[in-house]
Amino acid sequence: MRLIIVSNRLPVVLTVGERGMEIREAVGGLATAVKSFIKATENGKALGFSEVVWAGWSGIKAEQESEDLKSRLREMGLLPVSLTAEEVNFFYEGFCNSTLWPLFHGFTVYTVFESKYWEAYVKVNQKYAETVASVANTGDFVWIHDYHLMLMPAMLREMSPDVSIGFFLHIPFPPAEMYQLMPPPWRTALLDGVLASDLVGFHIHEYVNNFVRAVSKFLGYRTEAGVIYAGRRKVHVGAFPIGIDFDFFYNSSLDPEVAGQIEELRQKLRGLKIIFSIDRLDYTKGVINRVHAWERFLKEHPQWRGKASFILIVVPSRIGVPQYDAMKREIEREVGRINGELGDVNWTPIVYISRFIPTPTLLALYNIADVALITPLRDGMNLVSKEYVATKRDCKGVLILSETAGASHELLEALIVNPNDESGVVEAIAKALTMEPEEQCRRIKAMQEKLRQQNVVKWAVDFLHSLMLAYRENTESFT
Ligand code: UDP
Repeated sequence: MRLIIVSNRLPVVLTVGERGMEIREAVGGLATAVKSFIKATENGKALGFSEVVWAGWSGIKAEQESEDLKSRLREMGLLPVSLTAEEVNFFYEGFCNSTLWPLFHGFTVYTVFESKYWEAYVKVNQKYAETVASVANTGDFVWIHDYHLMLMPAMLREMSPDVSIGFFLHIPFPPAEMYQLMPPPWRTALLDGVLASDLVGFHIHEYVNNFVRAVSKFLGYRTEAGVIYAGRRKVHVGAFPIGIDFDFFYNSSLDPEVAGQIEELRQKLRGLKIIFSIDRLDYTKGVINRVHAWERFLKEHPQWRGKASFILIVVPSRIGVPQYDAMKREIEREVGRINGELGDVNWTPIVYISRFIPTPTLLALYNIADVALITPLRDGMNLVSKEYVATKRDCKGVLILSETAGASHELLEALIVNPNDESGVVEAIAKALTMEPEEQCRRIKAMQEKLRQQNVVKWAVDFLHSLMLAYRENTESFT
């Protein structure tokens, strides 16, 4: 019995080097999470799997994929799915990022409904299903990840009826009234697609409830706590909040490289209080709202001018997409304006960085930041907030977190704000900057305890255990 992980991208980055195509390990949410699980369970053996295989797109165009590259990937346990340039455009940029991403995050005005995007989505999901079906044997477990592959469970079920299928959505599932904006044939196909799984997982109960309501509203299936009756199948649904590798972050200041960077930063900053945030450039992250809240804070609390700076890191993403380019220009214009209006020769109100930050530097920044200002407008989970709290081995620091991030359902001791409530955010910043060390520590400790328990390995193990139980129930009901 093997575990086959399926995600849009394989956990590698391919680059053309001197000796042909070079394969590097990718960093990033899912890749890091699953790798921690693979390591902790000795390649899945602790859960009874004979091996772990991963299927996904390699990130390069089908035309560039040689047989040699494919066999090198296969040797690493990676099964590449080949996509043409047009498929990447219509499937990934199209249906995934211009339809599902904005709609599921509640950005209905950014959502486009294009038949050619939908057709590409169907075709590409079929390709993933065929790739997995070509290797899946009876009794194998297939764990399909995220919104790129919502049709795939049903397609795979057709081709390989005797495998166990789990599906996990890493982004929010919207309320049924918002989901209703999707053309009826597509919205029912997506729900039916997912419901061919034995277990469907989400980060929080709110998304589970939204999904269950959409299923009863649009498909009319009977539902009860944690179960949907889809024809003869009993589909389990549940909340499995993803965690982080707690020890890695908690012990980060013990690493000599990170410790060196912390020391260097502290010397340069000379007692300046640091407010910190890091996000991918995306409209869901609420960067501009945050910049304006910081400006208002400095205007309403002038005593903090010269004493606190905001380190704002926005990692470029989707470069060349006009909407994203415009968002980047707006952030840069506003940061420039605020620094010009309020800053002086020895103080910069907003230190803006627009590039990817390597892990040791990110860890050093988490360590030195007095306040993390994490205010997405909508975020499935938000790992940065968890990582910041876990890093605080010295028990100093305050997390300000949006109530619209999945993480706020666990990090109850954060200062919880509504990202659109500018005065509420300003108030939270003032409270954070003056919070007594004892209160900081009490809040950090309570959150760390949760993060230590609900770590990323537990997330994967909990999901797979539940999948095993759900699969057993479904197979037994057929015999
Ligand atoms: N991250 C990183 N370097 C960067 C920016 C982000 O390693 O320059 C990592 C960060 O540590 C976190 C992830 O990227 O693990 C971002 O996850 P999150 O859930 O916060 O946001 P997402 O980008 O998945 O929406």
